[in-house]
Amino acid sequence: MSSFLNADRPPVFCPGCTHERITKALDKALEKKGTAPHKTVIVSDIGCSGLFDTFFNVHALHGLHGRALTYAQGLKLADPALNVIVTMGDGGLGIGGAHVLAACRKNPDITLIVLNNFNFGMTGGQYSATTPTEAVAGSEFLNRAEVPMDICLVAGSAGATYIRRCSGHDPQLADILVEAMDHKGFSLVETLGMCTGRYTKRNRLTPKAIDAMIDAMPKMNGPVEKNLRPEYGEAYRRLALEKKHFPMPVTIEKAFDPPAPGREEIVILGSAGMRIVTAGDIVCYAGMAAGMNVSMKNDYNITVLRGQSVSEILISPEKIGYAGIESPTVVIAISDEGVQRRHGMFATLTPETFVLKEKSVTIPGTPATVVEVDFKALKVRRRDWALASLGLLAKEGRGVTPEMLAFAVRERFNEKMAAIAMETLEKMFRS
Ligand code: SF4
Repeated sequence: MSSFLNADRPPVFCPGCTHERITKALDKALEKKGTAPHKTVIVSDIGCSGLFDTFFNVHALHGLHGRALTYAQGLKLADPALNVIVTMGDGGLGIGGAHVLAACRKNPDITLIVLNNFNFGMTGGQYSATTPTEAVAGSEFLNRAEVPMDICLVAGSAGATYIRRCSGHDPQLADILVEAMDHKGFSLVETLGMCTGRYTKRNRLTPKAIDAMIDAMPKMNGPVEKNLRPEYGEAYRRLALEKKHFPMPVTIEKAFDPPAPGREEIVILGSAGMRIVTAGDIVCYAGMAAGMNVSMKNDYNITVLRGQSVSEILISPEKIGYAGIESPTVVIAISDEGVQRRHGMFATLTPETFVLKEKSVTIPGTPATVVEVDFKALKVRRRDWALASLGLLAKEGRGVTPEMLAFAVRERFNEKMAAIAMETLEKMFRS
């Protein structure tokens, strides 16, 4: 196969830049590897290494700084036959390090070339995640206050299955890259090189010095035995195939007429453990069964069984653009905590607003129509107060009907739970 280089756009780097050697080595490697250009993708990061994709006649993706690996993994998952190569500098490595760790942990069949030249070359030689502490960088003393990162050691501890450290001037670089591409899994090749435009203007660094650096660093020569395992895409597809049950989208056809044709804005004010969100769900199912558009917005703490729980449900014949409640038509007040959360709302209600209040709950003064219910006297357990309130709403013809609720309960719960819920609702219909 002939060169993959783009004859219309020859590589242009500063004179002596190691990136140029790596470009040529990658071209040779792609030739040797022999994957067709339309099955080869170079995903480049930002910086001088980000120019790579423009120099080759292959597919290319150039995205946000530090994120190249995320795009690459998506491409490889979508088409496992692709040969996906990522080029990233030490700048992108520092910015998107978490994505490098994720790739090491996942083991996707991607080759990452880290073009480490110890600084942000393109933007003026600022220090990066790999700048030696004693180096002179274009960002004053900042590198002297940090320690540089050894990405190969980090990758090894994060689970990378292939790690290679070499000089960007290594005459064997093309063969090294072929071996990395042939590795079934995530391969990381760190090339150490010279940024002649910035770094070596302030620091002495030669190919010989790079060789000496590599000799002094932990050896990284390819497959990492302790980390070897199946490739991510293969593992993903095998596990997905084993999965037998998939949640299907809920489709609800119009089967009932709503009690009134207009929009209802229902606010349920309760506490955690009172199944407020479940009650909101039921109202939504019921609304959909009446051919209405619905939305639900919930407000509760991250804690379990503590704190307020508020659900705001819209039922509307028109499409809902904003899911917030502007002017409630129905308020269910069944806990002081919930009422406290929306205490300012009560003064703004109108006489048309229907407020259902449990006897033990205190609400602020309001011009709304307030109806009190004593669930304790009706022998309804506190955790069922929200559901029981829906039964009373249906009885009053506010927002839902008994038929809509019965349908919603059957859709929302399993058979046993639906039967228990219906007992509570029917008790309210009869009350
Ligand atoms: S700035 Fe540095 S990395 Fe960029 S092209 Fe010039 S020498 Fe190469």
